[in-house]
Amino acid sequence: MNLIQIYKRFPTQQDCVKHLELVRWNDKPKCPYCQSENQTPLKNTHRYHCNNCNTSYSVTVGTIFHKTKCDLQKWFLAITLVLNAKKGISSRQLARDIEVTKDTAWFMLMRIRKAFKEYGELLEGIIEVDETYVGGKNKNRHNDKKTQGGQGRGGEDKTSVFGMLQRNGKVKAGKVKDVTRKTLQTEIRANVKKGSTIMSDEFRSYNGLCLLYGHQIVTHSMGEYVNGAAHTNTLEGFWSLLKRGVIGQFHYVTHEHLNKYIDEFCFRYNNRDNKDIFNLTLQKAVA
Ligand SMILES: [Zn+2]
Repeated sequence: MNLIQIYKRFPTQQDCVKHLELVRWNDKPKCPYCQSENQTPLKNTHRYHCNNCNTSYSVTVGTIFHKTKCDLQKWFLAITLVLNAKKGISSRQLARDIEVTKDTAWFMLMRIRKAFKEYGELLEGIIEVDETYVGGKNKNRHNDKKTQGGQGRGGEDKTSVFGMLQRNGKVKAGKVKDVTRKTLQTEIRANVKKGSTIMSDEFRSYNGLCLLYGHQIVTHSMGEYVNGAAHTNTLEGFWSLLKRGVIGQFHYVTHEHLNKYIDEFCFRYNNRDNKDIFNLTLQKAVA
């Protein structure tokens, strides 16, 4: 759904609450503290009194919307803006779009990204793997990834990010502490089904994958980018989207928050064909 559709579909706080109650409880309010469904609605508010544990609660307790002063309508619009922004949206831009302060927008984006975290099943089939670097300096990259004039700001080195992408399927990515064979292959074993076929470049950390997987290599250092079905172009396309987002929109993504940005990009990519990605996000937001 686009912004106008969301705006029209949920014109008031009341509409948003009703919708969240449907998504979270299938319309049967359930105490988030004791799980009892024995409740009495409180008058003139969206809260319920739990007759079992004597607390009161609303549908937002324990969700990303909990204890925020912002109207749910603005949250719904913010989610829509993030979902529709292929290269991400900066907190400055979001602040202007939904008329909140920059700090509020930043806080909302962080909360929304929390909902994007995916705990999916194993990848299988043909899997492209690759590592990339965000921020910092060139010196620790393996040779074919060094770029001309690629020095980042500050004295810190770049953060290593590792990704695995199933062709015509999902991508999983996140920062890694280093790009040693041990680290990368531990990630692969934890996320890719045995017997799948891995496509990688010639980086030595991928040596030995053939013990558990089919393994095909493109030799980037020799100028080779496609060798039959062996290439990592799909994942590189994802990296370039991520990097344009990080560089263009966020100016400076701290090491600490990088994984949340990556989760956002993975979520959009993984649900690119999902017609109801808005409600999927709400489900994850109240889960
Ligand atoms: Zn209760």
